Order: sequence, then structure tokens, then C-alpha cells
Amino acid sequence: MDALIDGYRRFRQEIWPAERARYEALARWGQSPETMVISCSDSRVDPQTVFGAAPGEMFVLRNVAAIVPPYRPDAGYHGASAAIEFGVRVLKVSRLVALGHAQCGDVRAMALGAPPEARDFVASWVEIAMPALSAAGGGAGRLDEIEAAVVRLSLANLMTFPWVAEAVAAGRLSLHGFRFDIHTGVLWRVEADGVTPVE
Ligand SMILES: [Zn+2]
Repeated sequence: MDALIDGYRRFRQEIWPAERARYEALARWGQSPETMVISCSDSRVDPQTVFGAAPGEMFVLRNVAAIVPPYRPDAGYHGASAAIEFGVRVLKVSRLVALGHAQCGDVRAMALGAPPEARDFVASWVEIAMPALSAAGGGAGRLDEIEAAVVRLSLANLMTFPWVAEAVAAGRLSLHGFRFDIHTGVLWRVEADGVTPVE
């Protein structure tokens, strides 16, 4: 707990004085981020750090493996879909980004089976991304290919949300996929036909 409080004190002493005006404006006028990022909860892949974003610039959803579930408006508890609806319909972001990463333990859980101690929710959650596994050549596929395939699957599932598809068709919204390599710090653009490093 001390590390958290120490971190907060550093924020108050070193960051807050320089950022105070920005926070005050955000409090006064509200947020109007142009980008929503869907990223893995992995502690090594912070979208604001990777994209060098300031507070107020990104609406962020983080979950296990950065998975977007398909559109399914029913009585279930859809935390990921709720965040996407808020970002697209309320904040009206103009960019949706799916950010996967290297060494994703959750993608590994999908390919090789969820850890036995985490099967209440993790197993059924990563099940959503199973089609990515076959797209990448099955369980024997290289993990980096599966990670890119999960990003493509999340982008495809975004298009099952009718108001996402509508906004994309109207040119108000664009979708982008990336994969962050933790080891090298290189960001890869994930497209339908392959991956390329961002220069
Ligand atoms: Zn991950």
C-alpha cells in the first residue's frame, strides 16, 4: 500500500502543478476524447504510455486479452460492450483502436487452456476469441500470429455493433488494430493481410 501512497505523493508534488490547468479544464468542460482504445489489462501495456497520451485524450477499456465480444444486447452483464456503447454513442469518438500485445498470458490461456485456478470467468471469456486461434493455424500457431488474429477478431466483432457499423459507413468513425511488442517497444500495425512496424 505504501508504494501506492508514495506514487500519489509524487503525482501531487511533481506532476499536478504542471498539469493542474489541464485537469481543471477537463473538470469544467468535461471529457471529449477523440480516441477509444481497447487494450489488454496486462500491467506492461498501458495505452496512454504507448501512445504518449495526456489525461482526457483517450477513453480506455482494458480487459483480458483486449477482446471485443460480439454484439449481444440481452440481460447479461456486458461491461466491455457498455464501455464501447458509451465511447461511440455518448462521447462520439472518431477512432476505435484495438491494442494487443506480445507475450499475452491471456492469449496463451486461450491457446493452451485457462489456468486451473481461473476458470470461473477467464475460460469462457477467452472462448470468445477461439475463431482467432483457427485463423492463425490452430493451437500450434505461433503466439504472435494468434495475438494479431485476436486483434482482427476484436475489430470484426466491433462491426457487429450496429451503431459502430453505421458510424464507420458514414465516415464518422475509423477502426485500427495494433500489437505492442513489450520486449522491443515496437508498435505493429495489424491489418487484414499482415502486420507492419510503425515507423
Ligand atoms: Zn494480454
